[in-house]
Order: sequence, then structure tokens, then C-alpha cells
Amino acid sequence: MATKIGSLLFCPTCGTLLDLPKDSEPNVLCEQCGHQEPATSYENIKITTRSHPDAFPSALRQKRKTQTKTHDSDNLGDLVSEKCPACNHPEAYSKALQLRSADEGSTVFYTCASCKHGWRVNN
Ligand SMILES: [Zn+2]
Ligand SMILES: [Zn+2]
Repeated sequence: MATKIGSLLFCPTCGTLLDLPKDSEPNVLCEQCGHQEPATSYENIKITTRSHPDAFPSALRQKRKTQTKTHDSDNLGDLVSEKCPACNHPEAYSKALQLRSADEGSTVFYTCASCKHGWRVNN
């Protein structure tokens, strides 16, 4: 019977570290002395060998989808009471953009809810 140290097997005759058995071969041949160790000696070792948990990502981790961020480029802004200078429609979409520095105020873009005419007002 071979000597087991951790997951390694050593030749009982000469103490040489033995190779892992190949699937097709029933014995492991000691390259040093020619001793043949039955591959079954490795079975207990294989059972105790555990896979690292990270090798199996959890189902939850795989199912978690990347949240699609709401694409808001088509968002015209909030509907406010603002008369359109082009068609006199009383409502327009308002969108404030902080283009300039804070003490200079912001620019509000309006888009007419009726004719889609766009204009901007500097506050
Ligand atoms: Zn040997
Ligand atoms: Zn309009």
C-alpha cells in the first residue's frame, strides 16, 4: 500500500512520488523501481478533493441581468404652461440644462407640445 501525504501518493518500495493514474491504466508505475501501485489507491484521495466554490457560479449570479438604464434622450422634459412662440399653443415641454456656471443661472429648453417647435430661455 502506497504512502499517502495530502493528495500525493508515494511508492511504498522506494518512496518516489507517484504520478496520478491515467484513466485507461489500472496501475500506476513507479518510474524509479518499477513498482506498480493499483490506481484504486487514489480513489479515497479523489473523493476528498473538493472543487473550489467559485468554480460553480451560483444560479442567482447567472440570472442577474444587467439593468438596462432608461434611455432618456427622447425625454423632452416636463409639460409646463408656456406659450409656443410659433403656434401659440399654451403648453410646452420644459427641460433645464445647466450649461453655464451656477451663478449665471441655467438655460431652459422648451419644446412645443403641439408643433414641436423648440426654443430656449436663459434664466
Ligand atoms: Zn518505487
Ligand atoms: Zn407650437
